[in-house]
Amino acid sequence: MELLFLLLVVFGVYKYIQERNAQREEAFTSPDAIYLDAGGYLRYHDSDRLVHRAVVGQKLGRRLRPLEVVHHRDRNKQNNHPGNLWVFKAQAAHDAQHRRDAVNYGEWWSYNGSSARGSN
Ligand SMILES: [Zn+2]
Repeated sequence: MELLFLLLVVFGVYKYIQERNAQREEAFTSPDAIYLDAGGYLRYHDSDRLVHRAVVGQKLGRRLRPLEVVHHRDRNKQNNHPGNLWVFKAQAAHDAQHRRDAVNYGEWWSYNGSSARGSN
């Protein structure tokens, strides 16, 4: 009986966390909450914060430092899936990544990727 109770509590906590994460995801990605800025990046209406920086911050469990730069691996500025985002400590390290990719995959791909939506 106690084991059954324990299982119910564990399941309840699991469902609660699952639901809370789903709500957070919804708040982060709801089309109503975001807009496309002039630079081609998605931002939140309420705060004007960049969505990709918030997504990475959530992934890391902290807010990004001002000099940290987020890189879109596929070069699609609107693909803010956590797996598509890399953080560099500063712009110089970010530039170095693009130069490495230019050597390995060609100049055009390094700055445009498969998205053809512009650099980054
Ligand atoms: Zn980049």
